[in-house]
Amino acid sequence: MDERLNKILDTVIHRSPGEPEFHQAVRSLFSSLTVVLSRHPEYAENALIERMCEPERQIIFRVPWIDGLGKVHVNRGYRVQYSSVLGPYKGGLRFHPSVNLGIVKFLGFEQVYKNALTGMPIGGGKGGSDFDPKGKTDFEVMSFCQSYMTELQRHIGEHTDVPAGDIGVGRREIGYMFGQYKRLRNAHESGVLTGKGTSWGGSLVRTEATGYGLAYFVSNMLAAEDDSLDGQKVVVSGAGNVAIYAIEKVQERGARVVACSDSSGYVVDEKGIDVELLKDIKNRRRERIRVYADERDSATFVDNGSIWDVPCNIALPCATQNELDDAAAHTLIKNGVRIVAEGANMPVTAKGVAVFREANVRYGPGKAANAGGVATSALEMQQNASRDSWHFDYTDRRLESIMTDIFGRCRDTAEEYGHPHNYLLGANIAGFTKVADSMCALGVV
Ligand code: GLU
Repeated sequence: MDERLNKILDTVIHRSPGEPEFHQAVRSLFSSLTVVLSRHPEYAENALIERMCEPERQIIFRVPWIDGLGKVHVNRGYRVQYSSVLGPYKGGLRFHPSVNLGIVKFLGFEQVYKNALTGMPIGGGKGGSDFDPKGKTDFEVMSFCQSYMTELQRHIGEHTDVPAGDIGVGRREIGYMFGQYKRLRNAHESGVLTGKGTSWGGSLVRTEATGYGLAYFVSNMLAAEDDSLDGQKVVVSGAGNVAIYAIEKVQERGARVVACSDSSGYVVDEKGIDVELLKDIKNRRRERIRVYADERDSATFVDNGSIWDVPCNIALPCATQNELDDAAAHTLIKNGVRIVAEGANMPVTAKGVAVFREANVRYGPGKAANAGGVATSALEMQQNASRDSWHFDYTDRRLESIMTDIFGRCRDTAEEYGHPHNYLLGANIAGFTKVADSMCALGVV
């Protein structure tokens, strides 16, 4: 890595102790910048890159709430407003016990470049809490969401910061938070949150968007090799929103998904995942993945081991960060994987990425491959601003064309910088230059 970048990275690590995921995300971006700085030394001036490593604002707050038995609890809330250079801060909220400032900063950092890649006018941010919605009643989730929003509402707005969902935050949580925001402001400002229900300001396709977008991105990766999804054997980790709709779309296009997972284990189903059954178990009944195997003859449940042991041509990690390491990457390669694309944020470790690159496996980084969710959030903001609601097919076509454009940007930038097919390099450089050029134009900000 370029000497100047190394020095900046040292400062970042020094300034943010105990935030390994944030350091990892910064290092991953920097790994692509040496070639940029040698062509454009001006990007190293005016502490531009140093400024990009420091969020504009970081908010940490207390979230007290009362459970169903009347007992008081306290959790910690976060919102990292990373960059508003391209538009209002935009990015999801994650409710999960693993959430801490470092996790939120890494997600916010990734979001800035992801949002830039969409070509839409949105800055980047992320938030959340260490609250665990798992095992809580509806009443308790509502109590928490109302308290969380009571503080968050001071910091957000349709032109300021527009949160959405992420792990642990879906339609239900967005509803409770939007309800509380509306009461506190006495205004139905639908553009303040995305991922809303379609009868109260949401967009069609938003629920499906990250998973469908991932499938569209993978279709483009395959088309670049004169291939298609038809007949491919796929493994998808996770069984949340991203995984479910990725499975639905790749199977619609002729692929067969033979395994998916949740935090309790994974199921193998050589006949191809029955996506309606999966939706029923995970979304309606909110049960564990084991139930899928109990109810489907062709499926087996595995609770000890790694889903990446299941042979496939295409691997789509859609669960969480660092879920696929170098050992898993070697196993996948041995079993014939050709394409890996990230539905989750940073699910492949840095060593895992290096292993795939060496083996010439095509790798679609999350900031490009999973950008369909936030891109459709931007479409929801457009509909809210014009007090309109679009048809499903129209919105889906817009999503697909956005994903094709993102793929094109990654491919063309990688070629321009002399590394064809290195989509990580292409995504990093295309995102970086857009943010950097805009920051330069706006002065020292
Ligand atoms: N949480 C999603 C992401 O990681 C979506 C964010 C949004 O829609 O604002 O991109």
